Amino acid sequence: MNNNFIDRDYILSLLEKAGTADDSVINSALKKAELGEKLEHSEIAALLKTENTEHISRIFDIAGKIKKRIYGNRIVIFAPLYVSDYCENRCAYCSFNASHNFARSKLTMKELREEVKILEKNGHKRLALEAGESKNECSIDYILECIKTIYDMKFENGEIRRINVNIAATTTDNYKRLKNAGIGTYILFQETYDEQAYNKVHLAGPKKDFLWHLNAFDRAQAAGIDDVGGGVLFGLADPYFDVMGLVIHNEHLEKNYNTGFHTISVPRLCNAEGSFINDLDSSFKPVSDEIFTKIVAVIRIAVPFTGMILSTRESSTLRKKLLQLGISQISAGSRTEVGGYSKLNNKPANPQFLVNDERDAFSIISELIDDGFIPSFCTACYREGRTGDRFMSLAKSGEIKNVCLPNALMTLSEFSMDYGDETFRKKASGIIQKEIPNIANDSIRKKTIENIEKIQNSMERDFFV
Ligand code: SAM
Ligand code: SF4
Repeated sequence: MNNNFIDRDYILSLLEKAGTADDSVINSALKKAELGEKLEHSEIAALLKTENTEHISRIFDIAGKIKKRIYGNRIVIFAPLYVSDYCENRCAYCSFNASHNFARSKLTMKELREEVKILEKNGHKRLALEAGESKNECSIDYILECIKTIYDMKFENGEIRRINVNIAATTTDNYKRLKNAGIGTYILFQETYDEQAYNKVHLAGPKKDFLWHLNAFDRAQAAGIDDVGGGVLFGLADPYFDVMGLVIHNEHLEKNYNTGFHTISVPRLCNAEGSFINDLDSSFKPVSDEIFTKIVAVIRIAVPFTGMILSTRESSTLRKKLLQLGISQISAGSRTEVGGYSKLNNKPANPQFLVNDERDAFSIISELIDDGFIPSFCTACYREGRTGDRFMSLAKSGEIKNVCLPNALMTLSEFSMDYGDETFRKKASGIIQKEIPNIANDSIRKKTIENIEKIQNSMERDFFV
């Protein structure tokens, strides 16, 4: 049964009141955030709406501290893999929309293997499988075949260990099948929580149904998928409205399933060939870098234990800044078209949208270390069954330091041995040695040191705690 837990008038009135909130409201919200206390909706709205530069710099400062306390210096790396661009929806912002005339395709299993070979060569262990929505061309059977094909592939240096799936909202039965296929997180962006704006930009196809889309995670949970990743496409509506929507959706999941979003993605609208959003009389307004930065920091404060994902839609400069304020996962070396890694398709590329960070994966990973971060290729949690509320209790208890940190260091050591050159190995080793003392548990620290030695001296791989 569809359930609309987004009360539009309530969010609008929150934001209206927040616009006139005085300093005392914001100062008390900031104090609570500093102490790690949960904020009221009105307080989150006040932080979003403030334009006071002193308040904003305190928001950045607190978000940065939360990020450091909960996630340390680790940044999880992944890449998207587009398998099909057939789509029966008319989403005005997307190049795959049904009214855009271009030569569509989906990967054959042979082509899929070629794509995965290249991704593995770049050191990826974690993929996000992406597709348009098409019952005929891209059925759930096709998606399951792709997942099985990828998981069955074995390489000299290992395998793809986690496939997150970002495909259209579907039925509980199909979610059960995805669960049985061993997916990581099921990701679906609400695009916008403002139903009026949603209706304006979704013109045809199953995705046009706001409630079908909004209740997708309830169906996924009913099917046993307890790691779900939300997001909105910033630029379709008032971005502050959409942050409040994300917060309320997260609470809805916490209340009903004991665990909120595993991750929140923050995609922002990019140029896309064949999109027609600029022709619409919509609430479409580009979100400036300043507002986007504040949004990322406020999300970090409002939902501290939820991972935040930033894609190559953003420039390298902005990505560097946002890593300090709350982002814990980034994509690297991404292609947003079908067959984009191996350029197998003998047809002009049709990316879903144009990316801004065009650096290759290795440069991104290497620069992360230069900036003091630990690129992590860890996929341990879901393989160990630490999903949903089990993961959340790990995060909330602070134990994440004894699990994610050693796993990040071991997987970085693997990456440096298998894909790095001498220079890279040297700097990876530098950060690994620097971070090892931060593993609090004595026996886990000892084990990590032993495992890293094995990784460096033999072909033994895939250690995790
Ligand atoms: N087709 C499914 C759907 O729409 O739910 C699966 C996800 S689609 C492959 C990935 C996401 O790309 C969409 O959810 C949307 O938010 C985003 N996207 C589409 N057009 C975009 C654009 N022009 N700029 C940035 N992101 C865009
Ligand atoms: Fe299709 Fe997804 Fe693009 Fe919409 S956003 S047109 S559903 S691929």
